[in-house]
Amino acid sequence: MIGFQYARAGNVADAVRLIAGDPIAKFVAGGTNLIDLMKMDVERPTTVIDINRLPLKEVEDIAGGGLRVGALVRNTDLAYHPFVEQRYPVLASAVMAGASQQLRNMASTGGNLLQRTRCHYFYDTATPCNKRAPGSGCSAIGGHNRMHAILGANEACIAVHPSDMCVALAMLEAKVHVTGASGERVIAFAEFHRLPGDTPQRDTNLDAGELITAVELPPRGFATNYTYLKVRDRLSYAFALVSVAVGLELEGDTIREGRLALGGVAHKPWRDPQAEAALRGQPAETATFARAAEVLLRDAKGYEHNSFKIDLARRCIMRAFTQAARGTPQSQSSKKIV
Ligand SMILES: Cc1cc2nc3c(=O)[nH]c(=O)nc-3n(C[C@H](O)[C@H](O)[C@H](O)COP(=O)(O)OP(=O)(O)OC[C@H]3O[C@@H](n4cnc5c(N)ncnc54)[C@H](O)[C@@H]3O)c2cc1C
Ligand code: SF4
Repeated sequence: MIGFQYARAGNVADAVRLIAGDPIAKFVAGGTNLIDLMKMDVERPTTVIDINRLPLKEVEDIAGGGLRVGALVRNTDLAYHPFVEQRYPVLASAVMAGASQQLRNMASTGGNLLQRTRCHYFYDTATPCNKRAPGSGCSAIGGHNRMHAILGANEACIAVHPSDMCVALAMLEAKVHVTGASGERVIAFAEFHRLPGDTPQRDTNLDAGELITAVELPPRGFATNYTYLKVRDRLSYAFALVSVAVGLELEGDTIREGRLALGGVAHKPWRDPQAEAALRGQPAETATFARAAEVLLRDAKGYEHNSFKIDLARRCIMRAFTQAARGTPQSQSSKKIV
């Protein structure tokens, strides 16, 4: 690891001021992604600004319903928080599907949103990678691309966003609260992460020096009919090949509102209003779920090693909706270990 300075921020204003003075600095929260990237020489911050003392560790009710989750709430604390377990079980389930208990004890809400892709070439500094070294090329297109994108990719980058939590946050239509040198703003979750376009080095629409302060969950939690289904190479401690977060609001057997987001398939959690429109007012049955899957995956394109993901995603969507409609969600929980 190469040398760097360490600074500790005492409050939000202090954190913003410190990073404004050093554009190559990075905030560190749990450190479970950033420190690995520094050890592998992928990230080279001049200064690491420790934000762990900031007062961003609460999960609070907000006026009009909904929940405000501080950026430093640890993944474990989020998944086991009673408000989250009861009102947003799809989020609790998605968080529990990620990483390991030890990692979830350290990983923060803000850091989870900003974790980088797990594309092997991104971590291997001996290979070309447009995300790590813009303009150098994409080694995954002609290389090992089993884990890579089937939606929204282009010749610049076919990496996927690796988070589980973010798939549930996309489905729930969360909002991200940020503070920077020019003040505070709120970013809709659908606008937070980016597709590669011609700037694959940029994962999000966060401006340089902006600090995530909280994630806001809207009142609607789909707490009765939901599921988070994650398919991976091992039952735990592995990133998703495909994951699906779904929620249904039912009137008898008819779908009043349906939500669907896919993980492991694109540079950002993948949602499509047209697929959700195909659910509205329809019977909660196999044919409806198949139509929604068809719409969501209509532009899916595989590469040499990952075409299997297209059929896998379709099957996952069908299974997830069937579980949600029956009120029998996929269980991701395990006993709390602290
Ligand atoms: C072996 C392993 C397996 C894993 N498996 C999974 C998995 O299956 N599913 C999954 O979803 N995740 C998985 N993860 C990833 C893990 O969830 C992330 O590393 C973690 O969520 C990152 O949070 P952190 O607080 O440690 O972030 P850090 O490493 O501290 O920071 C990550 C990035 O976010 C920035 N940052 C952090 N907080 C803020 C903030 N408030 N404002 C602005 N910038 C900020 C940092 O500057 C850095 O760029 C795995 C990780 C490992 C190491
Ligand atoms: S897929 Fe993206 S992250 Fe992976 S090698 Fe290509 S440019 Fe780099």
